[in-house]
Amino acid sequence: MVGRDLKPSDHPKKDVRRVLEKWVGQGWMLRKEGHWGKLYCPCEAACTTIPISGSPQNEGAHARRVDRLASRCPLPPEAPNRSLTGRARD
Ligand SMILES: [Zn+2]
Repeated sequence: MVGRDLKPSDHPKKDVRRVLEKWVGQGWMLRKEGHWGKLYCPCEAACTTIPISGSPQNEGAHARRVDRLASRCPLPPEAPNRSLTGRARD
């Protein structure tokens, strides 16, 4: 694991904060990484990591995108979009 833990309340944008609160409440982990942070799914395969922007151009769109990506977990191992949102295939 890289970076320290972040709390959803650390995020400066309300819409994003609300989505982070929802997923962290379901066991997702939020780490300080990249431009602001990354959200790690809690499933056994750890299929999904989602980059979280600290200053999205459109906070509503960013919040919806994070929500949509998070709702895909757990992805099946053969999912073609797995490499886009998750860790490397191997
Ligand atoms: Zn997952």
